[in-house]
Amino acid sequence: MELERLQKVMAQAGIASRRQCERLILEGLVRVNGQIVKKLGTKVHPLVDEIFVAEKRLQVEIKKVFLFHKPIGVITSMSDPQGRKTVADFFHHVSERVYPVGRLDYNTSGLLLITNDGELANRLTHPRYKIEKHYVAEVKGIPSQKAIIQLRQGVKLHDGWTQPAKVERIKATESICTLRIVIREGRNRQVRRMCEAIGHPVIRLKRDQIGFLTLKGLKQGTYRQCKEEERIKLY
Ligand code: URA
Repeated sequence: MELERLQKVMAQAGIASRRQCERLILEGLVRVNGQIVKKLGTKVHPLVDEIFVAEKRLQVEIKKVFLFHKPIGVITSMSDPQGRKTVADFFHHVSERVYPVGRLDYNTSGLLLITNDGELANRLTHPRYKIEKHYVAEVKGIPSQKAIIQLRQGVKLHDGWTQPAKVERIKATESICTLRIVIREGRNRQVRRMCEAIGHPVIRLKRDQIGFLTLKGLKQGTYRQCKEEERIKLY
């Protein structure tokens, strides 16, 4: 973990908004290693420095990211009122309050990131950052070259045209074709809807890569913690 601005560390620990934390600092209510700090922007090490806000020690949670290989039949959520299997069922042994980044449909398998780092989750899901998500889609029928080009250039969905995508045909039998589709957006059921739009509904869908992170070595239903150097690269 690197040095970070005091008000940011306080806000991330759930004290208050950044603005309100700045006010607490200016009011002289924050001590770092025994010293009152009133200078905004003072950098601290969240895990090394002792930070007290109004005499209460700040509890800083270590930020963690996990790569989870979600099986089909699991809800991308930490609870389900209908009692279906959720991501939480696989993360009993993780004590941090983690949650999924974005979502995969109940019937989609593959790579899902799980974290307790809200800032990173926003970054990975915000269209501005344009993180590539790679999918392997088995579709009904054999899409023509024209249909593949349509997918690449953009298709019209009920919520607007899709942005350009990378699409390759990787395998075809008589009635089923396997496509690799790479998109940077993350609309609800986007890949399924894109394939439906060209008349080739998805039979099976798997996400095997997000940015530079892949499923390599991860069996279905298992997870691994992101290495520190991988986590830093995600920012
Ligand atoms: N696109 C879909 O259609 N479903 C997913 O789960 C992910 C992307």
